[in-house]
Amino acid sequence: MEKLCYERNTHYSLGMKCKKSKQINNHLLRSWIQCKRKAWLEIYGDKHKKLWTAHSSLQLNHQIDCFHHLSQKNYGIGIQACKDGKNIAYGIRLKYPLIENRIIKGNLPLLRKTSGESIWGKFSYQPVLARQGKKVTREHRLILAMGGLLIKSLQKYKVSAGLLLHKENENIKIEKIRLTDKLNQELIDALLSLEKDIESSNPPPITSNRKKCTICSWRKDCASVAIKEGNLSEVSGIGAKRELLLSKVGINNIEDLSKIEHSKLREKLEIFGTHHGDISKQIVLQSKAQVTNKAIKLKQEILINDFTKSKGLFIYDIESDPDIKHDFLHGFIRLPNNLTNEIDFKTIKYSPLLNFEKNNESFLWKRIKRKLNHNKEFPILHYGETEPISLLRLAERQGAKTHEIESLKKRFIDIHLLIREYWCLPVRNYGLKSIAEWIGFEWKQSNVDGARALLWWRQWKKSRKLNNMYSKNLNSIFEYNRDDCLATLMIAKWLIDQ
Ligand code: SF4
Repeated sequence: MEKLCYERNTHYSLGMKCKKSKQINNHLLRSWIQCKRKAWLEIYGDKHKKLWTAHSSLQLNHQIDCFHHLSQKNYGIGIQACKDGKNIAYGIRLKYPLIENRIIKGNLPLLRKTSGESIWGKFSYQPVLARQGKKVTREHRLILAMGGLLIKSLQKYKVSAGLLLHKENENIKIEKIRLTDKLNQELIDALLSLEKDIESSNPPPITSNRKKCTICSWRKDCASVAIKEGNLSEVSGIGAKRELLLSKVGINNIEDLSKIEHSKLREKLEIFGTHHGDISKQIVLQSKAQVTNKAIKLKQEILINDFTKSKGLFIYDIESDPDIKHDFLHGFIRLPNNLTNEIDFKTIKYSPLLNFEKNNESFLWKRIKRKLNHNKEFPILHYGETEPISLLRLAERQGAKTHEIESLKKRFIDIHLLIREYWCLPVRNYGLKSIAEWIGFEWKQSNVDGARALLWWRQWKKSRKLNNMYSKNLNSIFEYNRDDCLATLMIAKWLIDQ
């Protein structure tokens, strides 16, 4: 038996407590699927410690773009749109007791009309979501399942599938996700575990998969807890599986790891397979560097003559939109001096080469070629593998000759690889930002990253024909990209100075 709650469009069973505190909704479920601790912190964490990240804005913009594709004249807002039988219903808010004694809230951004027999007639509705990223994940499936169960309670008709929209190049693709009984049960189990986690007065432990933390708004807070606890996931090279194996052999924190002989650790880990032993030297040294806060040199003879002898060099860094595989900015710094000398910042020239449209690269390639050919003997320094891959592909697409491609290949020097080969540093990861910050480099703009640059780019691109609302965005992107190039340069300089 159901009764209308005081709040609009809300139904719940008679005699049931309407728990207002610690409400579970689709946002909390999403956080919980990403990391159990995150959901707990969303409720009890100190909001002042939360960092702003560009990811939710990117997701929202992406959703608007995808939903735009489904837009048609016959649409409406809220439950009234369903009653009226509109093809699309936006902004539906529902609350139903999907688990015992607990109202589950869902803000469903879009429902699409489909066949069926609902309380309103010979039609029914299904949930629609937009997804970023390459794959359909558990998060997408469970959020759709939650939408499906909430809609079922409203329309009194089973929802057998939900829709996922995503961008492939510039096109919107629609995938049908079956909402099976098994998936619904998985959702109910997840909601019950989530409920248990948020009823606890202690936060769930820090995730072992620390890659997730890089885009999480609680990363600063969790990092300080992890350091304090000497958490093994703080050590670069230790993921969930390794952490478990280490605890099985009695190593539970960084301190323990830094004290053990690596040959002894090898013996212990080889019980689980020889390949597990291979990593022992690396993780012991890494933990030592982190515990003592001192860099450890791995090889005494450093053979990086390629660029120590050069009269000058280029530093290269790109900014991309991964959803449509578009490298929209190719940034270069030209340093006309040998890197063993003091860097004269006045002589550094930064050139941002923009590529407005993905399919119009011939002009861009000509400009890059002219720039690089002007100083053919200069090596091209970069951080990570993305830059050479992208530039060589661009060259191939533009019909560069084999010898041109081969000589371009020879000019690339990956500073990230060199750092990994020669040094063990007291950092949690070997990304550009953490290494550059460790050697004392600061980005001019605070709290910026690739995601923020991408958000600036998308905002600027959309608004450039309409108004000047985001005109400053382009300068912010250039400044960020220039700092990325400078950070790479400073790391290269540090390598040489050591
Ligand atoms: S920073 Fe990492 S451990 Fe902390 S809540 Fe986020 S994902 Fe979880």
